[in-house]
Amino acid sequence: MKTILGYLRPHAPRVAVGITIKFTAAVLELLLPLLLAHIIDDCVPARDLPGVYRAGGLMLVMAFGAAFCNITANRMAAWVSMDMTRQLRRDLYERTLLLSQAQLDRFSVSSIVSRLTNDTYNVHQMFDKIQRGGIRAPMLVLGGLALTFLQAPPLALVQLAVCSATFFAIWLVTRQGIPRYTRAQEAVDTVVRVLRENASGVRVVKALACQGRERERFTAASRASKEAEETAGRVMAAANPLSDFLLNLGLVLVVLAGALLVDRGRMASGQIVAFLSYFTLIQTATLGLAKLFVKFSKGAASARRIEEVLLAPEDQRVRLPENPDRPGPELGMEHVSFSYLGVEQDLDGASFSLNKGETLGILGPTGSGKTTLISLLLRIYDADGGVVRVGGRDVTALSREDLRGRFGVVFQNEALLNDSVYENISFLRRLPREDVIAAARTAQAWEFIEALPEGLDARLDIRGANLSGGQRQRLLIARALAARPGILILDSADSALDYRTAAALHAAIRRDFPGVTLVVISERVASLRDADRILVLEEGAITAQGTHGELLESCGRYRRMAELQMGGLRA
Ligand code: ADP
Ligand code: MG
Repeated sequence: MKTILGYLRPHAPRVAVGITIKFTAAVLELLLPLLLAHIIDDCVPARDLPGVYRAGGLMLVMAFGAAFCNITANRMAAWVSMDMTRQLRRDLYERTLLLSQAQLDRFSVSSIVSRLTNDTYNVHQMFDKIQRGGIRAPMLVLGGLALTFLQAPPLALVQLAVCSATFFAIWLVTRQGIPRYTRAQEAVDTVVRVLRENASGVRVVKALACQGRERERFTAASRASKEAEETAGRVMAAANPLSDFLLNLGLVLVVLAGALLVDRGRMASGQIVAFLSYFTLIQTATLGLAKLFVKFSKGAASARRIEEVLLAPEDQRVRLPENPDRPGPELGMEHVSFSYLGVEQDLDGASFSLNKGETLGILGPTGSGKTTLISLLLRIYDADGGVVRVGGRDVTALSREDLRGRFGVVFQNEALLNDSVYENISFLRRLPREDVIAAARTAQAWEFIEALPEGLDARLDIRGANLSGGQRQRLLIARALAARPGILILDSADSALDYRTAAALHAAIRRDFPGVTLVVISERVASLRDADRILVLEEGAITAQGTHGELLESCGRYRRMAELQMGGLRA
């Protein structure tokens, strides 16, 4: 909460002015019933008409004054809380961009999204409501009670009792209601998720004829949402009638007790009217106060969730290199181990090295750690042990920009933007069109781009749905090539390409990017056979490495793969 409160500091002057205005308004509101009592008890019995006009006029001016003050202060509160929430959201977003992948995994992306949206909204609401009611409500309650105590302690005691009952009743009901609304919100999230999965996987759903099952899944989610909403509604339904009942009960009690006092000549009737006004004022303020507490607890919980992200320590520091002049391989690992969750080793004792301009091939079944290995080269994750080298240096000694600037990467399942072909290849880097075209040519994508009605300016559907899988893949390869990286990583980038296109692609990369260091992950021996070094990965361990020829001799698994795919073709 301390960090979040810090966001109020720059607005302290505006908050102070707002509080002063609210204070003035509350004083005006508290004085109104006194004037009313004065009119009824002093002016009316004395038939002092000018006195009635004077006091009435003054009341009118004060009522207007209070309304004007409250409106002005509320506007200022809205203004301040909007400004500070905007700053908070911006900082949170920037911090999110700097989180390491390991931290993102830990928070989960959907939780980050809800922290950026829901939680900042709750904090906004909290600050807004506190500024609006945080001064006014307690002042009206305490001031009202104090003024009534001065005049007739027994009546004030009745008010105090009813007020306390109201506060606890409303506070209890809302406190019960809020978590139920949260659950209802989560149930709606589930419905949306099921819908989204169905909509994006509609082809598979149809192809596998699972409409029936999916319908059941949706019905279940939708029913859960309805039930959660009902439970929340049932609890909260008590809130308003309960407060109305307590208000009326209080009014009746005040009138009864007041009538007794008047009867015994211990009170004037005007005072009773003033008491009724005070009572309504206090009761409404109490209600506001109870709701304010709930808003506050909700906002405080959200503030904690935001602070978790804001205060997350930077876990990928850049160290000074111990010996910057020591030459090393362009790419390499020395006894590198890594685990995502700390349960099993996802990469275990990996060692290899590759010189500048050479090609590294990586072969292994799904889940063997191929993507993990390149994630460590890119320092998306930090190794638990061992040294990862890029450009001869320990990756932990390279700045983020220096490291990432060396690579061009195509990941598996990467997404295209709902934008032009040019933007998809240039990808926010504003590359010259010639470079984009050259990259598209190398990636074997130019032929089909040229055939599109608007060529490079043709628009892609969401996720590139108007392209074939192979076309999407070639666009992504063009994107990786377009900035002419020193190191190019293709993670299963040829999976949707036919053999001829894949071969043409590899030949074109070698021809057009002669100095590039290439890392190719593929299920196809044909895509890897020309590599200077091939790693065979199994369950996170490099079980064999060498050239195509060497592996045919030494690695039974590699030989079997080669024979299966290439019909026993030898190097
Ligand atoms: P490959 O690319 O060879 O198919 P990966 O490198 O993606 O395999 O995965 C290697 C292992 O690490 C698998 O067992 C996979 O389940 C696990 N893994 C991959 N990504 C994560 C992640 N973000 N969190 C936890 N485990 C992961
Ligand atoms: Mg993979």
